[in-house]
Amino acid sequence: MTEFMDLEAQDGVRMPWNVIPGTKQEASNCVVPVSAIYTPIKAFPVNNNSMPILPYAPLRCRTCRSILNPFSIVDFAAKIWICPFCFQRNHFPPHYASITDDNLPAELFPQYTTIEYEPPGPGEKSSVPPVFMFVVDTCIIEEEMSFLKSALSQAIDLLPDNSLVGLITFGTLVQVHELGGFGQIIPKTYVFKGSKDVSKDQLLEQLNFFIKKPKPSTGVIAGVRDGLSSDTIARFLVPAFDCEFTLNSVLEELQKDPWPVPPDQRSTRCTGTALSIAASLLGACVPGSGARILAFVGGPSTEGPAAIVSKNLSEPIRSHKDLDKDSAPHYHKAVKFYDALSKQLVHQGHVLDLFACALDQVGVAELKVAVEKTGGLVVLSDSFGHAVFKDSVRRVFHSGDYDLGLSSNGIFEINCSKDIKVQGIIGPCASLEKKGPLCSDAVVGQGNTSAWKMCGLDKATSLCLVFEIVKKEIPDATLQSTNNQFYFQFLTYYQHNCGQMRLRVTTLSRRWVAGPGSVQDLIAGFDQEAAAVVMARLVSFKMEIEAEFDPIRWLDKALIHMCSRFGDYQKDSPSSFSLSPRFSIFPQFMFHLRRSQFVQVFNNSPDETAYFRMILNRENVTNSVVMIQPSLISYSFHSGPEPALLDVAAIAADRILLLDSYFTVVIFHGATIAQWRKAGYHNQPEHQAFAQLLQAPHDDAGVIMKERFPVPRLVICDQHGSQVGSYHNVQQMGGSLWMIVVCYLLSPGKDILGHSPMDVCT
Ligand SMILES: [Zn+2]
Repeated sequence: MTEFMDLEAQDGVRMPWNVIPGTKQEASNCVVPVSAIYTPIKAFPVNNNSMPILPYAPLRCRTCRSILNPFSIVDFAAKIWICPFCFQRNHFPPHYASITDDNLPAELFPQYTTIEYEPPGPGEKSSVPPVFMFVVDTCIIEEEMSFLKSALSQAIDLLPDNSLVGLITFGTLVQVHELGGFGQIIPKTYVFKGSKDVSKDQLLEQLNFFIKKPKPSTGVIAGVRDGLSSDTIARFLVPAFDCEFTLNSVLEELQKDPWPVPPDQRSTRCTGTALSIAASLLGACVPGSGARILAFVGGPSTEGPAAIVSKNLSEPIRSHKDLDKDSAPHYHKAVKFYDALSKQLVHQGHVLDLFACALDQVGVAELKVAVEKTGGLVVLSDSFGHAVFKDSVRRVFHSGDYDLGLSSNGIFEINCSKDIKVQGIIGPCASLEKKGPLCSDAVVGQGNTSAWKMCGLDKATSLCLVFEIVKKEIPDATLQSTNNQFYFQFLTYYQHNCGQMRLRVTTLSRRWVAGPGSVQDLIAGFDQEAAAVVMARLVSFKMEIEAEFDPIRWLDKALIHMCSRFGDYQKDSPSSFSLSPRFSIFPQFMFHLRRSQFVQVFNNSPDETAYFRMILNRENVTNSVVMIQPSLISYSFHSGPEPALLDVAAIAADRILLLDSYFTVVIFHGATIAQWRKAGYHNQPEHQAFAQLLQAPHDDAGVIMKERFPVPRLVICDQHGSQVGSYHNVQQMGGSLWMIVVCYLLSPGKDILGHSPMDVCT
């Protein structure tokens, strides 16, 4: 596995097949598609060998527009390079005149298959400030309100000084706050009915955008350049350093939605209308520049065009069963609304981030399309007071070692050898509908295009690219020996968080094989972790779009086909079966995937399922593998920390276990360890070794918590104990938690105590 990790460290890419099945038939026999999990703006460690950032514009092939790369064949004498994608011969421009064999520009160095360009852009471009529009739910109880206020005021403290900030609050009504009041004593708000969607024109009219400067009679209103006065925009989007006081005082005054709620009713909450108003306001004021809507939602939407449930409490919120039977009356209408909103946001280049904090479902399942297509962040928690929410919000605005590297305005493009087509991308992006010869007719995810918009992307954002091999026949052996490489080039244009536009280029070359005898080569290049993650994204995607899809059957069939193609066995002798070490843990991954939260959806609410899948769809291979198959580390005096089997047998009185299921991290003390800790042995100088043993899993958990977003739930517990009150972050819990750990180990995602493990741990 290490060689695949090395490839990832160089290019941010993992592929199930690193030797590629070379024909359409071979590829289909391989079951797992030719594909890649690619992290477009992965952060590389800074050292002598690190990816250079070139201060000039890239050279492009004049036929296919792909970019000069280490796989180009260079004729130094004639000053010509041959494009590996279309074989076009390109002349170097005059400023490359001095290149020779030992005077290469960085983009031709063999180790720089991934490189960035940052050509000097127009100066003003870099001064475009980031924009944050806070959209805050007020239909929440006082306690939640105070948690939320304190999280928001912390966030405001952390905002970059040059950023622009806006505020919209909502409940029964939507209130747009005028923060740039120019000397007003009482900040002004504009109120909109929650029950009706407001058009952009109506919105601008009501917000008095045309008082000083009349509305242009034709054309689109888009920012200062086209029709709006900057004074007017500055009433709603205010520099952070200017408005901290106003914003904080507005937040302080913020009241719970004042409209009475009868005991048999839900609050009137118009989430959809509020988000639509936020989108239209940003669309008018700052189209095309990096802006994020941060939505803080504390309950289900019950009003307006995107209600997910009626106000009547006797009507339950839709479950997976309801969705399955198509008996969720509001679902399709709400999804359609958010689909339209996602198109608007993608067009404007803006991001929707969702912080959903409630015991109830709030409509994450409906909102998913808008968050995912804009590359937004999502955090799901029970309460605005929970560490998962509070720590995650802090991480969004935090700068330094563990910052998320939030970037904006991304466009992603693919080039590849002519025998390969692109089926699509499963991940946080939206098709730009750039059709061409590269597009396969078989579409997976965002397909039918070779360019995608990524309104928001960060260091972790990872796309799953699915390819199709279209070569029909096995070419003859002579040809194969000379031309047996496939090439891929991934281009990511994006606005770096320093404000500059950058272009990251990753060019890959992979050998292809075909015909008899190719099986061993395919096996040698098989990355089983990447394969498991591609299968997880594919099965989740199919469950969402194919009505009669049977995920278990599909996964079982895939595994059987894989084993019969790549296993070693004599016919009619099952005991002779063996799999190459390259495939040894793939069956186990499939076993866990079958029982994971991605497939066994009935143990979770539609909101939870949507949440788990959104995170799966944006994470890299290593993190996704943990979501599919939790990792378990055992700490004891007998040995150093070591991986343990996910089995009840891992539990022992003199061991500490660290279970990482990605969304939850559990530190579990064996009974003896817990007794010693309660007796305070770790505080006695002669028991230093015990103190270290006790500390080690906490340190390791700490590393996980620091690097991961959303911040996972941390549970600390003892064998046979109820809970350990004095520990940081421990939730009040009844019953014995070790039971839950056991349930987790026995059947991840299963519903033994009547709840998912996540719920029980609260
Ligand atoms: Zn070319």
